[in-house]
Amino acid sequence: MAKVKVAMDWLAACAGCEMSVLDMDERLVQLLEKIELTSTPITDLKHPPKEGVTVGILSGTVNNTANVEVVKEMRERCKILIAMGDCAVFGGIMTMRNFFKMEEALKRAYLETESTVDGIIPSSEELCKPIQARPVKDVVKVDVHLPGCPPSAEAIHYVLSELLEGRIPVLSGENLKYD
Ligand code: SF4
Repeated sequence: MAKVKVAMDWLAACAGCEMSVLDMDERLVQLLEKIELTSTPITDLKHPPKEGVTVGILSGTVNNTANVEVVKEMRERCKILIAMGDCAVFGGIMTMRNFFKMEEALKRAYLETESTVDGIIPSSEELCKPIQARPVKDVVKVDVHLPGCPPSAEAIHYVLSELLEGRIPVLSGENLKYD
């Protein structure tokens, strides 16, 4: 039987969610008998294939114009989109920046941090632009919300196992956490 194609990518993220994916340990190996991970930040192949995948997984906050492009591309190329982790589901810690003007945030990040020497705010036209931090669902339709910071390996395994059985996962109990 053909393997189910799964693509992963991240937005503004800390990689903690990807660590939870790896935390599935031997269950990840078992899953790989049934799924093909076409692209993932773990392998540094991030674009989902043009012919599309069954499941797309995004972690992190939509934080700049490049993130918006990544989200739209994943939505176009996958049948079922999972927002993985509090950043992707709710916006996460990155949304604290929304309480400040963008100029203030850039100044703090590039000029005023304690370790900065001769800082400069990047301004090339070729760079993406920062935007108000937001969850994935504010940009495209999300089919499965998997909260947690990060979600546990068990919750990620449950979601993927349910999808492999042809069911949209319903999270509850230990699998539904917000920390
Ligand atoms: S949800 Fe938590 S672990 Fe996942 S990217 Fe955001 S901060 Fe990192």
